[in-house]
Amino acid sequence: MRRSRRHDHRRARCWPREAGLHAADLQRRRPRSDGARAHGDRPVREFQPGQGVANARAHPHPNAPEGRPIADPRGCVGLTATPSAADLSQCVHCGLCLQNCPTYLLTGYEAESPRGRIHLIQALNEGRVEANAAYRQHLELCLVCRNCESVCPSGVHFGRIMEAGRAQLYERASLSWRERLFRRVAFHEVLPYPMRLRALFGALLVYQRSGLRRLVQASRLLPGSLRDAESLLPDLPAPFLPRWEVYPAEGKLRYRVGLFTGCVMPLVYAAVHAATLRVLRHNGCEVHIPRQQVCCGALNVHAGEQEGARAMARQNLPAFLDRGLDAIVVNSAGCGATMKEYAELLDSSAAAEFGRLTVDVTEFLASIELQPFRRPVHCTVTLQESCHLVHAQRIKEAPRTLLSSIPGLKLRDMAHPDLCCGSAGLYMLTERGMSTQILDDKMRDISQTDAQTIVTANPGCMMQLERGVRRAGLTAEVKHVVELIDEAYRPA
Ligand code: SF4
Ligand code: SF4
Repeated sequence: MRRSRRHDHRRARCWPREAGLHAADLQRRRPRSDGARAHGDRPVREFQPGQGVANARAHPHPNAPEGRPIADPRGCVGLTATPSAADLSQCVHCGLCLQNCPTYLLTGYEAESPRGRIHLIQALNEGRVEANAAYRQHLELCLVCRNCESVCPSGVHFGRIMEAGRAQLYERASLSWRERLFRRVAFHEVLPYPMRLRALFGALLVYQRSGLRRLVQASRLLPGSLRDAESLLPDLPAPFLPRWEVYPAEGKLRYRVGLFTGCVMPLVYAAVHAATLRVLRHNGCEVHIPRQQVCCGALNVHAGEQEGARAMARQNLPAFLDRGLDAIVVNSAGCGATMKEYAELLDSSAAAEFGRLTVDVTEFLASIELQPFRRPVHCTVTLQESCHLVHAQRIKEAPRTLLSSIPGLKLRDMAHPDLCCGSAGLYMLTERGMSTQILDDKMRDISQTDAQTIVTANPGCMMQLERGVRRAGLTAEVKHVVELIDEAYRPA
């Protein structure tokens, strides 16, 4: 299938001159128009009960040539505000990642490709360029989807490079007072505090249910950026507020697991948590939902706010460890990826243990013997593989295995299911133009499947795909994989 991508991103055109690199360093390359992928079916690691799963960074890259030494990331570098020279030097500039980079596919600019960004970060590291506005735009336009990491034959840890690169950028760049205020409030005053988040979303719930939303939308009173943010918000449900800290297993106890609830998920997608809890208990899990847990820190890490993320990680470790858990189950791919990499934030054995115990809910369910389903789920679904599941955690088969096992369900693949939907956390708000272009391409791929349900494994993807459904005028509904499993367990 041919992939149509536009290459009209103006900011990219001025970059080589403004940032002071020789244009030949970052030549514009034409994206391949045949949509061919640079990788085949990658080997995946699946959860083995009792063994746990470490993150993708802790292992030799699956595509690395046999015997090629890959630096052990945990041993040599942590997540710092300076990209490591060892990490940067792993890139051999082969360009195999380019055709898997959504921003390169759309712009055709080397500076919007993984290789170009690595080159830029290295140049700043070595003092050859300044952290000026153009430099900043190229780093901020990266989705941190880690698709490039997934296909890189040299095992380049692109996610870690970009996270450190952004931390370095925000240390050096001069931010406006509005940006500083936003970062202070969002990353330090709201995200780490569940009660403040709950109050904020409580106010939004009243706003939506009182009819005020319709009035505000009709009056177009909100300025552009706020209007965009407001339009992204789905209709809020009653929040997921667990009554107990420990829910017993139904029937024979098989596993003792923790459920990580996260910051926004219980307030926006409460039904996903409720479904996860039911499915786990039905499959013999005693489920612990510690009250002391807080946001995982993923949004902070991606925005280069590592200190805030460390503080949250420090709070999550004692909340889950020492409970004798077999696994810490998480149903948000973005959170899971960060939690598996806590040892890069905190150089401690407790952080490594936390990462070892963390499993995505699909990874966990696909690795255990499931109770028989009670009823068929007659629908045609297509799977959008969340980037932080398929690329950061390298979990590709688990959601498919689970979906294929549901009687009555037809799984119809879209083209390029592992290409980002343009959500990428706050990216869908901060890089609205690029995010929308990526989303529109994704919706074209989805509409060709005629699926009634789009399934994915991350709340940000769900929000973005719901927006895509509205934009494309489709009638499909968006669900988490675990919601369909839960449906198959309902009484016939
Ligand atoms: S990141 Fe990997 S795939 Fe991309 S240019 Fe560098 S070595 Fe090649
Ligand atoms: S993380 Fe995604 S958007 Fe960023 S360079 Fe890699 S493939 Fe491109």
